[in-house]
Amino acid sequence: MDFDRRDILLSAAAALVAGSSGAARAATGRPFGYAIVGLGQYGLKTIIPQFANCAHSRLAAVVSGDPAKAARVAAEHGLPASAIYSYETFDTIRNNPDVDIVYVCLPNSMHAEYTIRAARAGKHVMCEKPMAISVAECEAMIAACKTAKRKLMIGYRCHFEATNLEAIRLASSGAIGKLRYVRSEHGFVMRDPSLWRLKRALSGGGSLMDIGIYALQASRYLTGEEPVAVYARESTDRSDPRFTEVEDMIDFTLEFPSGVMAGCYSMYSANQNRVLVMGDKGRVELEPATRYAGNRMWTGRDGREQEVTPPATPHKTQFAGQLDHLVQCVRTGNEPIVSGEEGLRDMRIIEAIYRSAREGRRIQLGAKA
Ligand code: NAD
Repeated sequence: MDFDRRDILLSAAAALVAGSSGAARAATGRPFGYAIVGLGQYGLKTIIPQFANCAHSRLAAVVSGDPAKAARVAAEHGLPASAIYSYETFDTIRNNPDVDIVYVCLPNSMHAEYTIRAARAGKHVMCEKPMAISVAECEAMIAACKTAKRKLMIGYRCHFEATNLEAIRLASSGAIGKLRYVRSEHGFVMRDPSLWRLKRALSGGGSLMDIGIYALQASRYLTGEEPVAVYARESTDRSDPRFTEVEDMIDFTLEFPSGVMAGCYSMYSANQNRVLVMGDKGRVELEPATRYAGNRMWTGRDGREQEVTPPATPHKTQFAGQLDHLVQCVRTGNEPIVSGEEGLRDMRIIEAIYRSAREGRRIQLGAKA
């Protein structure tokens, strides 16, 4: 189906803003219970505290390979011992009616397995980005959720973040004229060579899979278009012990049907978090663009530079917006605005970017990419 993603994003945001809309009517009943799989940096430190900001979501269970940590987290959050699972006992979560949704916060190579096991256990799934480490895995995850008649959403939190939503609105409103190009740089300095992020079997790839995916996402949601071709080059010092298995820096250009080009850099060797959308009448700039908090934006037109304060979102934080959105989708039967298909689209492009860098040539993407 052909659609304009920006319209979907903006109408989803508008529905949330309009408190008396269908979204609000559907907001009745008990909060839905989430099981967090993987009590690492993101699951434990970032997501679990966000349930305090949610209107429709709560923590219902934890899944961890570390029994002591799981017991401590459960106790801190008032969960009974029956709400603690190991990776081995995970499938028995099917018998826990308190758990509606499983949130997969594991290394990338484990996303497919836990999404599929969760769907088979009758649970809806929120899966972290990148959705998986291959197109084939993404397709298997979508199929498993479809067979089980469960929702699948990818943790693309920026679709609920005020600055990015305002940038989408401005870019699609004509405020900066006809779009010409997007530029995005996303990176951080990877310091620990022992991390799973640097092991290909667990990560599926380097900075592109981890942080470059934000530049790819931004290029797609700010243009509302699907790229038709990619061209990529890689720069990695293979003598650096951090980068024996995965790439450090990758520079990729996406070509869109309207003629817009997106030039993106992704890296593990510099701190950068920036998006620029350039139109023939002006520009929108975000820096930082996709952080957990503190993102800022500016517009430039007719020689005037102006910082923009985006309108507040109806949710307290982007994370709460993301968590509650899936609950509302389960209640209403709507597809999440960042569904499994959205994660699959990115993975098709990521595979083409890697192929382009490897083969040193422009890769054309299929109509459905
Ligand atoms: P992390 O290393 O801090 O946590 C990973 C968790 O998985 C740990 O609890 C670890 O014990 C567990 N684990 C189970 N099996 C493992 C294995 N074989 N090797 C390593 N760890 C194993 O990682 P993280 O930063 O929490 O990232 C988890 C996922 O969340 C990744 O997919 C990442 O891309 C995603 N993430 C998303 C965002 C975002 O803003 N959306 C931010 C950070 C991370």
